[in-house]
Amino acid sequence: MTTCLMSLGANLGDRSRTLNAAIASLEQVDGIHVLAHSRWSETTPAGGPPHQADFLNGAARLETTLSPTALLDQLHQVENALGRRREVRWGARSIDLDLLLYDDVIVATPQLTVPHPRLAFRRFVLAPCLEIAPEWVHPLIGWSLEECFEHLQKTPRSIAVACCSAESANTVARLGAQQAGAFFIADPAVAGNWRDAENDLASAPRRATALADAAVEQTEWVSGFWLEPPFAAAPRPTFVVWLDEPFSDGNPSTPPEDTSVSGVDSSAPLRKYNRDLGRRVMQRGRGPWLQLPTADLTQAANEVAAALLAMRPQ
Ligand code: ADP
Ligand code: MG
Repeated sequence: MTTCLMSLGANLGDRSRTLNAAIASLEQVDGIHVLAHSRWSETTPAGGPPHQADFLNGAARLETTLSPTALLDQLHQVENALGRRREVRWGARSIDLDLLLYDDVIVATPQLTVPHPRLAFRRFVLAPCLEIAPEWVHPLIGWSLEECFEHLQKTPRSIAVACCSAESANTVARLGAQQAGAFFIADPAVAGNWRDAENDLASAPRRATALADAAVEQTEWVSGFWLEPPFAAAPRPTFVVWLDEPFSDGNPSTPPEDTSVSGVDSSAPLRKYNRDLGRRVMQRGRGPWLQLPTADLTQAANEVAAALLAMRPQ
């Protein structure tokens, strides 16, 4: 038996009836037992198409003998059953069931990511979780869900965009901030596009000042850089977006090879910097993060904007 945490959301039709029906359907599945569920709370939509109706959100704690994939499959079946019936009437999907945590198991496949990558900074997901599982420790972040929520309450709403490419980081931060109406902090470091550890160190004081200045006047911001803790003077962001640069062939941002020194791959240090950056951002105990590919900067900016909305008090 494994204990799991899932989220439920609906913004069409008789929402509470749909959520109750989802719980009842899950209880009918062999290998699933619903231990508890939160109240259903009204929230405003964060991201997605404009002019959407308000959501009713909740969370449930389950006990299951199913594997993570088999459980997700069951969630999809319940979604389909409820959604299909409503599709005729409302013309849109009316329910979203996500798997948030599966004990302390980590899954990363194209079909399933557990823990749910956006669990730790979405207020509408965390708040109902607190009613039924405040002590549950996020297996990647190392903080309990209660600590994640307190962090969200305490810190000014802010996102740091970390990337080995200064241009990609600044673009995503600027577009994301613009979209959500938040303040954009450009990287004050003067350097070429590709970042390195030495330049980060030299730029740290200017970056710390830029963050501290913004904190005086702004309530919500996105920075095109991440300042590795501890920099006492600089406020910590609510969470960090790490733009992972895969350096795949054909990627326009792949660094040029240094042809002047034959046999030496000049991009090797950059690849290492990229890897190290990810490792440092995702270090257990440092706080929430979201890993995104650099392949689609517009999509990454949408994620930043949606995350800001999801962090705002209702
Ligand atoms: P969303 O939940 O982001 O609004 P969907 O419900 O349409 O979007 O899910 C899109 C896909 O996300 C699903 O087909 C599913 O395979 C995938 N997915 C990955 N990880 C999870 C997870 N932890 N819970 C639910 N779906 C997930
Ligand atoms: Mg879903």
